[in-house]
Amino acid sequence: MKLSNRLQLILDHIPHGSRLADIGSDHALLPTAAVESGTCVSAIAGEVNTGPFQAAVKQVKESGLTQTVAVRLGDGLEVLKPGEVDVITISGMGGGLIASILDRGVEKLSGVSRLVLQPNVGEDILRRWLLAHQWVLINEHILEEDGKIYEVLIAEPEELRELEISNETLYKERVLDGGIVLTTEWLLRFGPYLIQRPTSVFHAKWKTEIQKLNGILQSLSKSEQVSAEEKSESIRTDIKLIEEVLICLLKDKQ
Ligand code: SAM
Repeated sequence: MKLSNRLQLILDHIPHGSRLADIGSDHALLPTAAVESGTCVSAIAGEVNTGPFQAAVKQVKESGLTQTVAVRLGDGLEVLKPGEVDVITISGMGGGLIASILDRGVEKLSGVSRLVLQPNVGEDILRRWLLAHQWVLINEHILEEDGKIYEVLIAEPEELRELEISNETLYKERVLDGGIVLTTEWLLRFGPYLIQRPTSVFHAKWKTEIQKLNGILQSLSKSEQVSAEEKSESIRTDIKLIEEVLICLLKDKQ
């Protein structure tokens, strides 16, 4: 089965021999491919909606994998029993929804050794959730497919990463060449790894963010509320910082 580059990137970060749960699996393409390729020994496809659930059941049947890929109907992590899987993937939803799925099923995460998450928006919300719940980001990627930009975040429990990278070092304030201070807040927004190896897709994402912020500024300029000016000032500060960071990263590359 040929996966999209986005789903393939997620699959590439599932350790060999894992027992996988893919939550919000839709057509169960990822768990099916994970077992078919030999990456996973078993998989669970979780779906809250009956349409995608039935599509997943059909996909698994047609692939002849009903013995190794279970399809379960339910909300978030409630479809899992404690200790049943090693890796959980959640992709193709907003960062806020992914964080809420993790939050509501936090007790199911004990024994899980890796999360591979792909938020469509709100990546910072997810980084904040991981930081607050002692999960360490061990890597992250950004890719563009069909005109959309996606980020993939890979995290492991802090206790497993004791001697290596820690959240404390990952999000520690950094000073870029030119004296630009990247606070923890900005590292959560840019992504602590993505900013270290900025690609053309990273630049494209943040140029689009600047355009969005300029759009908000324009709307705010029509408002007569006092709070609108305060908000505008804060947005102008953000735009200035993003622009400075992008210029600085480009200079670093030359
Ligand atoms: N994960 C696939 C991917 O990345 O291509 C499908 C993404 S699809 C856009 C999002 C899926 O998540 C939908 O099928 C939706 O029904 C499911 N979903 C949304 N909230 C969910 C929840 N709380 N629990 C389980 N599934 C959920």
